[in-house]
Amino acid sequence: MTEDPIEYSINIDQQLADERYMQLALTLAQEAALAGEVPVGAIVVKDGVVIGRGGNSPIDTHDPTAHAEIAALRDAAKNLGNYRLVDCSLYVTLEPCAMCTGAIQHARIARLVYGASDPKTGACGSVVNLMAEPKLNHHTEVFSGVLANECGAILSEFFKQKRLKK
Ligand code: ZN
Repeated sequence: MTEDPIEYSINIDQQLADERYMQLALTLAQEAALAGEVPVGAIVVKDGVVIGRGGNSPIDTHDPTAHAEIAALRDAAKNLGNYRLVDCSLYVTLEPCAMCTGAIQHARIARLVYGASDPKTGACGSVVNLMAEPKLNHHTEVFSGVLANECGAILSEFFKQKRLKK
């Protein structure tokens, strides 16, 4: 069997683009860590342009909903002047929780790309899979494991430092 060379090159391009965008999400996660927040970062991309950015900030903002994905969705919607983020991709370093998965669906995000899995609160397959629920009417394509090691390492390092400080 031979692989279709055109199909193959598109996949490689997509993979490289996904890694590049995840790298941007990782820098936002790093900024969150410096601010003492659990390091998670997210960006929204439309037609190759970053239109939304967000870092996790519930402690600083006294806001339990201040997850990176919510911040990135709000930023993107403001920039587009539309609460529906049609044809957009969301990149996040950690698997979204139930709240964020719901928000991603409400925003009509076409494609979700996440790095590390979250066995404690992940709602895209780890604890529950709200993205695979056929009764929910919007379906977002989900890709996981992009720069998963880097995305997971920044979290383990953060919690390690936290334990050392105690
Ligand atoms: Zn969340």
